[in-house]
Amino acid sequence: TQESNFEITDANFAKNIYQPRNPFGHKGTFGHALLIAGSQGKYGAALMAAHACLRTGVGLLTCNFPEEIAMPLAITLPEAMSMKRNETIDWDKYKSIGIGPGLGMESFDIIKDVLTHTKSPLLIDADGLNMIAANDELKSLIPQNAILTPHPKEFERLFGKTANEFDRIDLALQKSQELHCVIVLKGHNTLIAADGVGYFNTTGNVGLATGGSGDTLSGIITSLLAQGYISKNAAILGVYLHGLAADLALSKQSVESLLPSDLNQYLGMAFKSLG
Ligand code: AMP
Ligand code: MG
Repeated sequence: TQESNFEITDANFAKNIYQPRNPFGHKGTFGHALLIAGSQGKYGAALMAAHACLRTGVGLLTCNFPEEIAMPLAITLPEAMSMKRNETIDWDKYKSIGIGPGLGMESFDIIKDVLTHTKSPLLIDADGLNMIAANDELKSLIPQNAILTPHPKEFERLFGKTANEFDRIDLALQKSQELHCVIVLKGHNTLIAADGVGYFNTTGNVGLATGGSGDTLSGIITSLLAQGYISKNAAILGVYLHGLAADLALSKQSVESLLPSDLNQYLGMAFKSLG
């Protein structure tokens, strides 16, 4: 077995990573993110990711969503821009790309295109990961420094079954080294694996066990990437803020009533706690 070490990401750890917003900044300073998400029956995942992405401070957001939600998007999140799924992507334009929430398994062409051509830091989640798990060619195309955010089932599809949780953690550390990627193994005390080191998150609660929580996290991390955080720090800070927003939301909600869309209201307080 390999040498491995672990760290705990608490409030102090997050404060050290956090970069206060430059008061002289303009929207260009805070990056342009591209979110590629949503498919029939999973439109909400795309909208939740976009909402959280905006609430995390991205300068500009373009959404590559199914055409039928371009108008609902413009109405519910007027700050977001949109493009068509098969429109040519300008690879120089985006500071970060997030792909996968609710994407469906029929979007092979666009994920292959992104994996092949992106020059921007990449976050891959949900069906993005599921499509990669089902195709060896895609697997070989995962770019270095990509952030992969599997829940345990998605992790298993990608990297295989393990005997227990401890072996799964070891495998995540090993794969983070092999692929030169950041692997966010989601759950209670989410593990962020980077360069063979494991960072255990300390925020969040079981109120997050509702469909859509992960999509929100994808939006948050894609936003931090666009703002210039390196992959490891975007993942650690994103997971921390996402969990903290959920903890703060319990001032009004219970772990039963909490919804992923509620988190957006508490990201502001979560950020303020870092400053
Ligand atoms: P997903 O399964 O993709 O929707 O992601 C679920 C999100 O909720 C991840 O960010 C998990 O870390 C979080 N989550 C789920 N269950 C719990 C739990 N019991 N405690 C803390 N966080 C959780
Ligand atoms: Mg998910």
